Amino acid sequence: MTPAGEPSFRESVDIMFGRAVDKMDLSPGLKKKIQICNATYTVRFGVRLRGDIHTFTGYRSVHSEHMEPVKGGIRYSLGVNQDEVEALAALMTYKCALVETPFGGSKGGLCIDPREYEEHELENITRRFAYELAKRDLIHPSQNVPAPDMGTGEREMAWIADQYARMNTTDINAKACVTGKPPHAGGIQGRTEATGRGVQYALQEFFRHPEDMKAAGMTGTLSDKRVIVQGLGNVGYHAAKFLSEEDGSVIVAVIERDGAIHDEEGINIEELRAWIGDHGGVSGYPKGSYVQDGAAALEYECDILIPAALEGVINKGNAKNIKAPLIIEAANGPVTAGADEILRAKGTVIIPDMYANAGGVTVSYFEWVKNLSHIRFGRMQRRQEEARHQLIVDELHRLDEHLGDKWSMTPNFKEKYLRGAGELELVRSGLDDTMRGAYQSMAEVWHSRDDVEDLRTAAFIVAIGRVASAYKAKGL
Ligand code: GLU
Repeated sequence: MTPAGEPSFRESVDIMFGRAVDKMDLSPGLKKKIQICNATYTVRFGVRLRGDIHTFTGYRSVHSEHMEPVKGGIRYSLGVNQDEVEALAALMTYKCALVETPFGGSKGGLCIDPREYEEHELENITRRFAYELAKRDLIHPSQNVPAPDMGTGEREMAWIADQYARMNTTDINAKACVTGKPPHAGGIQGRTEATGRGVQYALQEFFRHPEDMKAAGMTGTLSDKRVIVQGLGNVGYHAAKFLSEEDGSVIVAVIERDGAIHDEEGINIEELRAWIGDHGGVSGYPKGSYVQDGAAALEYECDILIPAALEGVINKGNAKNIKAPLIIEAANGPVTAGADEILRAKGTVIIPDMYANAGGVTVSYFEWVKNLSHIRFGRMQRRQEEARHQLIVDELHRLDEHLGDKWSMTPNFKEKYLRGAGELELVRSGLDDTMRGAYQSMAEVWHSRDDVEDLRTAAFIVAIGRVASAYKAKGL
């Protein structure tokens, strides 16, 4: 939803794109070609439900085909419209370029409130939507590969994969037509947690860069940093869980649809998530204090603010009141172009969406590669790796016995060292490596150019540069 008096979401992305591209030496024609959305397909289809025909409106937008397939999630929400889908598709183009997943940018959406339907009804609706897209190659392993987004998850992706397979019975790569599938239906370990995990890796990398921390006026590590999370959906939940359980950060507030919970002692994310599951919201949660005006909690004192819900939540109306010195955009487009300007002037450091939430598409890439190679990562090498480690451990044992008290192995060393990496470890390692590499390419531009004052502009410059190279290689 566009906040009143501000440009639309797509215009907001274009303004941010414009700030960056103006600093680049590209022809005006190429700038325009990169910025423009190639195509948006709108479909209206009927599904027989509850004794009547119900008509649904869906979209699949293809922003850039400089690489194919194009990639991006499918969102189920009543707020879905063409402007939003096009903005999200554009962000996918830049996101994929920044984290070097070999895809163009796309996005889809269905205008529906999934909570209003039974599971079998949602299955009928999803299969029909998938049919409409697949018959136009807008779902296709080598053309267009959707994934989950707000309001969709593993279940919907499994239905889409099955629908595509039924329509393409001889396509041996049919499973690669969509990512985010459950592991038992061709998915990959670690995809569900991937976006939240990526937010954690992004923050860990930020805290490895002292000068970047200094820009936000921060010192120390992630441990004890006070964090506010908006939205405890898949992304916000995993980010908050990992930061609090593994990095020692303190989640001081969680904002949900029906209000916020505030607790300076730190919120137990598993407990709160279970409460939301049972009660449909945060209200009534017995620990901390409940505030009905959830948006007000965006303005509380904290070290790190993680908007992980909708676009436009930090806008001209509240930007000046935001106290967090560091914002990490786990959602797509949570900060409007107007708010971005206000926050930049205040010195707030923003880790931009196209980087911060790229963990999802990164692991989608691994899943797609797994589907095309028809073998799980680690299957060939795991035991061989363990056998080689066993050799070293045996040798250390021999030394241990020989040297006696003078030297001994650290407890647990053997167990830890012996275990070869399985799919989940490999996925996390690939994701961590991707998040570190992408941050460094962004930070390098931020620091080396006087005319680049923020990470978002730096991210756009890296991404646009890569898209431009791909177009040039095609002779454009
Ligand atoms: N919907 C997610 C995003 O916005 C994931 C896209 C994907 O995995 O293709 O990045």
